[in-house]
Amino acid sequence: MKTKRIQKIQDSIFGVMSILAFEHKAINLGQGFPDFSGPDWIIEAAHKAMKDGKNQYAPPHGIYSLRKIISEVYEKIYGAVFDIEKEITITAGATEALFSTIMGVVDDGDEVILFEPFYDAYLSDILLAGGVPKFITLHKPNFEFDFKELAKLISPKTKAIIVNNPNNPSGKVFTYEELSYIYELAEKYNFFVVSDEVYEFLTYDNIKHHSILSIDKEKKRSIMISSTGKTFSMTGWKIGWAIANPEITDAIRKVHQWTTFAVNTPGQHAMAFAFSKLDDYLHEFKTQYQERRDFVLNELQSSIFKPHKPYGSYFVLVDIPYSNFNDIELAKELTIKNKVATIPASPFYAKSDEGKSMLRICFAKNKETLLKGIENLKSFNF
Ligand code: PMP
Ligand code: GLN
Repeated sequence: MKTKRIQKIQDSIFGVMSILAFEHKAINLGQGFPDFSGPDWIIEAAHKAMKDGKNQYAPPHGIYSLRKIISEVYEKIYGAVFDIEKEITITAGATEALFSTIMGVVDDGDEVILFEPFYDAYLSDILLAGGVPKFITLHKPNFEFDFKELAKLISPKTKAIIVNNPNNPSGKVFTYEELSYIYELAEKYNFFVVSDEVYEFLTYDNIKHHSILSIDKEKKRSIMISSTGKTFSMTGWKIGWAIANPEITDAIRKVHQWTTFAVNTPGQHAMAFAFSKLDDYLHEFKTQYQERRDFVLNELQSSIFKPHKPYGSYFVLVDIPYSNFNDIELAKELTIKNKVATIPASPFYAKSDEGKSMLRICFAKNKETLLKGIENLKSFNF
């Protein structure tokens, strides 16, 4: 028999759509992963680490050189200074960092505020921890929120707010003003800010990403989560981290040690090397993604699926033109008949109906894949 806890948990829409895409040989513009590998020099660094015998368990908190280089990079770009031993934990992707953080700070009955559209793992993590989710909508077309509405959601039970910046799936990049307001509320009402920044290096049109680390430099109440999956196009390596003050880090590590214990060793060595080359790498990386985003926006303009311009992440939400279509059914039909998989947007929403009229497209793909996928989208007849 399933536990009561598990009965509340849904299957991830990303897995569902990828399996369907595979079964029907559809172009997969659904689940967020590149259809190309990250740089060869990182793969070579992993080979070297394996050949050098770095094949046994890593220290549970992560190898020192990776924690060190991440802290140096964040000090440089966000102005945050932290204790490498006590404030950073390497996890099996951001997914595990999120799970360990939420299990570490959310008690039964605690309320956690989510901005919708939200990355699906947050809701499951909160429910698994026994928490109670509260939602505030980032309304399209600009994916902005009402400051007063957010303030009204806060109660004595509010334990945390989760901010995903840049946001998956909308591509919204939170402004400094928005983040500062969120942080002020957290200070005033004494709750945590969990900031998922896995797309921290993927912003467009020269828009600056503001990390929570640049606002809460002392990490009084913020937990910053990120991973190497998007930045180095190696989503399968699953190397992420959680950064928090020593007390919260201790709670995170309590969960981490009984779930994964340690993260794969050669991958961590390769990523420590990759981070040491970040400055040289980022320009080309961002240029390529800017081209992909512009290409997709341009191609979609001549389709019936009108895009909402993303300023960050590698996703774009498109509108479904007719209201009689259910996003989930349409996404399945497009996959089976038109051979293109997308992600229906309703699983990213709990309160508003806005998701039912949108699909999410991932543009972390080669141009040929994007062209073929959008061509298939255009072949849909209402
Ligand atoms: N957060 C967001 C917003 C994501 O889009 C993803 C998926 N890439 C994750 C967390 C999970 O990251 P990882 O693959 O490093 O576990
Ligand atoms: N983050 C990816 C997405 O948004 C999916 C990762 C996963 O499948 N867990 O599509």
